[in-house]
Amino acid sequence: MIELQMYINGEWKESSNHEKRPIVNPANGEVIAYAPEGTIKDAREAIDVARKTFDEGIWSDLPAVERASYLFKIAGKIEENQEELTRLETLDNGKTLREAGYDILDAAACFRYYAGLITKPDGQTYHVADPMQAMVVREPIGVCGLIVPWNYPLLMSVWKIAPALAAGNTIVFKPSEITPVTPKKLFEIMDEVGIPKGVANMVFGAGPVVGHEIAASSKVDMVSFTGGTKTGKHIMKMAADTMKKVSLELGGKSPNIIFADSDLETSVDYALFGIYSGAGQVCSAGSRILVEESVYDEFVNQFVERANEIKVGPGNDPDSEMGPLVSQQHLEKVLKYIEIGQQEGAKIAAGGNRIVSNGLETGYFVEPTVFVDVQQDMRIVQEEIFGPVVVIQKFKDEEEAIKLANDTDYGLAGAVFTNDGAKALRVIKKLRAGITWINAYHPTYNEAPWGGYKQSGIGRSLGTFGLEEFQEIKQININLQVEPIGWFANKNE
Ligand code: NAD
Repeated sequence: MIELQMYINGEWKESSNHEKRPIVNPANGEVIAYAPEGTIKDAREAIDVARKTFDEGIWSDLPAVERASYLFKIAGKIEENQEELTRLETLDNGKTLREAGYDILDAAACFRYYAGLITKPDGQTYHVADPMQAMVVREPIGVCGLIVPWNYPLLMSVWKIAPALAAGNTIVFKPSEITPVTPKKLFEIMDEVGIPKGVANMVFGAGPVVGHEIAASSKVDMVSFTGGTKTGKHIMKMAADTMKKVSLELGGKSPNIIFADSDLETSVDYALFGIYSGAGQVCSAGSRILVEESVYDEFVNQFVERANEIKVGPGNDPDSEMGPLVSQQHLEKVLKYIEIGQQEGAKIAAGGNRIVSNGLETGYFVEPTVFVDVQQDMRIVQEEIFGPVVVIQKFKDEEEAIKLANDTDYGLAGAVFTNDGAKALRVIKKLRAGITWINAYHPTYNEAPWGGYKQSGIGRSLGTFGLEEFQEIKQININLQVEPIGWFANKNE
């Protein structure tokens, strides 16, 4: 049994009320760990420590190259521990070992990327009227509250922690209450490499308790949140009273547009990857497939055949291609949507059930599911299901494809498959989404900004944009001729 602890001011801590939360393996429903159930008191203690540490300048005053050296060491240690981290990620989240393995390497690469970036030029100077010289410097924001979801427990943590620390901030970090295992391991690594105490603090616990306190606290300068759109709206409201900066990476219902002139085998293959990787629990999942009518039937036939062949099983079985959903509660939500889809009159072309055979009875497994005969206003077309459930729709022409693609509240991602390069770019330019692909789905890079339009969020993670989220911008104007301005009393005449 894994016993987890929180990390505040460089010390491992139990919860102030000594309560613990069981952490469950979604592949079989067994308890694998206990995590302290953080309280408002614990959150306040971590916030106070982060505030004091920031104000003392222990971290922000270090030359960037020194902060970078810690981040490089963290990257190295993540790689050294890749096997264990992969195993733990699969155990806690349920994703396959293959999926978890990529996440862990990506996390190391993200630390390395920001370690490199922070030592590169980042200011500006302006040629203004003599005798002044104007320039801009970037500074850390201060205390950053970082709140993340359960679908990429380590990677989503690192997308925030690496740039926040690189920029010189101190942090109060809260992982999802469902998946604290690899975040705890990351904090062990940060402790091992000697990040000064008080710089990086971690509190576990419920969103409405610990997360709420972080978002509302007057001692926190910024909150960077990844999670559901409903929670994002709440965080924004909580942050408003203290006018703290918010950065929000939220939900999606992303369109994947397949034109008749695309290579159908490639389109089907990427479309499967787009929805069923991570068992559909991916914010950018291609959960609405739009297919040009002349190849619709052929596409659906091929897609359904391939969906039915996906091997669903425990993430730690090397033969499994798709793991379980993360929790009993989430399983119920996804099954409810499948029921709603049927009630709305959509037709199930594949899957549609919980899997309760072959040793998967106690896990949270759902068949790869395909809905056809859907209408644009159905809830299964409009709302994020966050499971292995896709709707396949038909379109007549380019104009209708764009209209349907943009017709949800979300705007996170989208893709176009076609052999016509000009058409691909025309359609992509019309998509109201922040992350897009042509003839591919899902590949993403630490170098490139990640984030959504519309109700999919505010701000960007990753790349130079992801660093800027964690920085203030200051203009400095220098008088090169030190003498009175003489504006009043005509002293200069
Ligand atoms: P969630 O919104 O329920 O929880 C996310 C985090 O917020 C958790 O740590 C949770 O404890 C905390 N939280 C919950 N209520 C809170 C409150 N009232 N105040 C403060 N914090 C609170 O989301 P989830 O179910 O963990 O994750 C799934 C969602 O995350 C999906 O909607 C998915 O699209 C989204 N997501 C988005 C991205 C992106 O980059 N846009 C990436 C991953 C996941």
